[in-house]
Amino acid sequence: MKYDNNIPYKIYLEEDQMPAGWYNVRADMKNKPAPLLNPGTGQPMGFEDLRPVFCDELIRQELDNDTAFIPIPQEIREFYRMYRPSPLVRAYCLEELLNTPAKIDYKFEGNNTSGSHKLNSAIAQAYYAKQQGLRGVTTETGAGQWGTALSMACSYFGLDCKVFMVKCSYEQKPFRREVIRTYGASITPSPSDTTNVGRAILARNPNTTGSLGCAISEAVEVATTTPGYRYVLGSVLNQVLLHQSIIGLETKAALDLYGITPDIIIGCAGGGSNLGGLIAPFMGEKLRGEKDYRFIAVEPASCPSLTRGVYAYDFCDTGMVCPLAKMYTLGSGFIPSANHAGGLRYHGMSSTLSQLYHDGYMEARSYEQTKVFEAAVQFARIEGILPAPESSHAIRAAIDEALRCKQTGEEKTIVFGLTGTGYFDLVAYQKYNDGQMTDRIPTDEELQASISRLPKIPG
Ligand SMILES: *Cc1c(COP(=O)(O)O)cnc(C)c1O
Repeated sequence: MKYDNNIPYKIYLEEDQMPAGWYNVRADMKNKPAPLLNPGTGQPMGFEDLRPVFCDELIRQELDNDTAFIPIPQEIREFYRMYRPSPLVRAYCLEELLNTPAKIDYKFEGNNTSGSHKLNSAIAQAYYAKQQGLRGVTTETGAGQWGTALSMACSYFGLDCKVFMVKCSYEQKPFRREVIRTYGASITPSPSDTTNVGRAILARNPNTTGSLGCAISEAVEVATTTPGYRYVLGSVLNQVLLHQSIIGLETKAALDLYGITPDIIIGCAGGGSNLGGLIAPFMGEKLRGEKDYRFIAVEPASCPSLTRGVYAYDFCDTGMVCPLAKMYTLGSGFIPSANHAGGLRYHGMSSTLSQLYHDGYMEARSYEQTKVFEAAVQFARIEGILPAPESSHAIRAAIDEALRCKQTGEEKTIVFGLTGTGYFDLVAYQKYNDGQMTDRIPTDEELQASISRLPKIPG
């Protein structure tokens, strides 16, 4: 074992070393992410336009491209203390198994009941909804992690929470559904016959297993037609990346304690929030020309928005009720095959990350799920943690980079985001263990069919 006595297996920050503010990477971007557009007029959406849908303070954060440091309110900091700072773990055992000269660290965000990083933004969004005097919030959940996190956050602040859960996950993950109900939220499989948009989607496609895009449309409809409710979203939006910057800030603080500078930073990318948060302070240094890093976004081959999508304005949801966002997208009508990494089944990518990728600050790659689970099992056996399928995309890329270092003899430091645990994904592990997991990659024709239906921008 090449254990280095100067660098512990886990670096834990003290509670009072937790960042006092979130870092807004947009402040350091020369090319700002493109604004949200009103789908009717093609005009950028301002504060007043977004108020029927989102909480006021969250809209301010969404539109703020200039303030680098946004203080974390005391109430949120207190909640963070229940499960943060999260550990930065040196994967000594994995390094030894791979026999690589590379050093591998991972930031583990699965140490809370929701099992993922999503709680970091859920608690912030619930706090601002409460501050505004709202009665409740609505949302969608894909794999269920966001719904779980939001139901926890809402119960903490005494807010009502209505969750639309993508139908295939609702059926595949009864236990996650039950955690959500235990925290007092109501939960509806989507598409449902409880909304206009759900009924329309079902009429067109009665056998659909649903998608995040469908569920978003339903949640937005309920929020905008129920007094005292707003819609909240667990990924994609600028505000979510802002809250998730706590991951990157803690990672940087922990590395700085030991004078470690990473070379390669890797994260899985669904809507882009954990990756955006993990890389934020490092990307800031790169944008300011202070340091250079390689950033790698990893996505499923079944839903490859960065690697095979187009950079264009698109709807954030299948029902086409949300604003238009400029992003790498496969088209809002794209419904990915039933990949087990439910949290990565989104047709688009955060506008902030899309702009950074477009400007060449970041790389992207995709993997088939069998390759991802191979890495997940290897990691679970040697590092002890049973990883979420989503997180395992980052593990796959980290292992591949470490193996590349083995060939070249490079002693690179690789940091990756281990976003969550896989306890609710055991049906997926069962499929893999039984040798029944298959890979379904969309053809160019399928992608083209959905991309050709991108909206025309009025005016
Ligand atoms: C939701 C989720 C993701 C993907 O979402 P991002 O917004 O891209 O971070 C990744 N890992 C886990 C465990 C998740 O729950």
